[in-house]
Amino acid sequence: MSGGSTAVPAAGGARVAAALIEWHVRSGRHDLPWQRNRTPYRVWVSEIMLQQTQVATVIPYFERFTGRFPEVRALADAPLDEVLHLWSGLGYYARARNLHRAAARICAEHDGRFPEHFDAVAALPGIGRSTAGAILALSLNQRHPILDGNVRRVLARYFAVDGDPADPAIARRLWALSDACTPDRHLDVYTQAVMDLGATLCTRRNPACARCPLTETCLARRTDRQHQLPTPKQRQERPLRQVFMLAARRADGAVWLERRPERGIWGGLWCLPQFDRPADAADYLERMLGERAPARPLAAIEHAFTHFDLVITPLLAHCASPVGAPDPAQHAWYQAVAPDARGLPAPIQRFLQRLGSARIQSQLFD
Ligand code: SF4
Repeated sequence: MSGGSTAVPAAGGARVAAALIEWHVRSGRHDLPWQRNRTPYRVWVSEIMLQQTQVATVIPYFERFTGRFPEVRALADAPLDEVLHLWSGLGYYARARNLHRAAARICAEHDGRFPEHFDAVAALPGIGRSTAGAILALSLNQRHPILDGNVRRVLARYFAVDGDPADPAIARRLWALSDACTPDRHLDVYTQAVMDLGATLCTRRNPACARCPLTETCLARRTDRQHQLPTPKQRQERPLRQVFMLAARRADGAVWLERRPERGIWGGLWCLPQFDRPADAADYLERMLGERAPARPLAAIEHAFTHFDLVITPLLAHCASPVGAPDPAQHAWYQAVAPDARGLPAPIQRFLQRLGSARIQSQLFD
């Protein structure tokens, strides 16, 4: 099928829905925490956590998050730091900031009740068309097509849609196919089923076509093109960014942190101060903490973001004088061995834990 064709096989769509619903009832996952007490709020939190993150990773985060914030108002009333703290390690922190902002908006505009109308849901921060549809379908059985990464892959293969799914014409085509497949009844089961098929059987590598409920009619399987679809993006060089971070450490083990700007990577999280050059770190050390001692480079920390790789060289400096935090909203002395509730990027948290451990300390300070 051409990616640009406008014809949508409605009968094919009905067949897909029936097969998926039957498959999910028979052998789908029914015991996930967000499948219990399926309120729009709980489904919203789970859908945001599950973006770019595996189910097994999300489960403990979801339990902790909804345990602390059982409904919208509790989330809206919490300090952002506590929300980021409970998100630490899940990555893509803009998701947590958007959850918090959206909760405040729901309290202001919808009296603390998660909206049940598609346009109101899609207008909330961090919720796109597919996520809005998924929340309302899963929690309230409303009919909305969805097109997350998993569903895009299933549809591109099943209907053999060539072309980059990010291309607007191909995206329109896939949305139309998603709409054609979305049934009028059992929207909660169908929506879960099509997402789960992409997550568990129609996976990016090695799709399990032999066990797939769509195997008889899937065009990719019939033409042996599963591994060519969806059409991969043109590969681009991954840029590498190198930065320096100052690990200014007091005699009691506390390390100086500052809050990162809201925009950019790790926005709003607490982190070691970051610099492009070691000389800038030395200036900062003297200006903020009154220390002139040279900072010592430690082993680099490497971290892969979606669009680039980051290499951080930590610069360790000892602070003899007990300087306070000039602005507690922006700076803090942080004890990795007895951490308070603030959100840190996972690689920085791991580094500070290593720095705080007795074994590493003796290696570093001998
Ligand atoms: S038959 Fe294979 S390629 Fe087709 S939808 Fe199923 S798992 Fe995906």
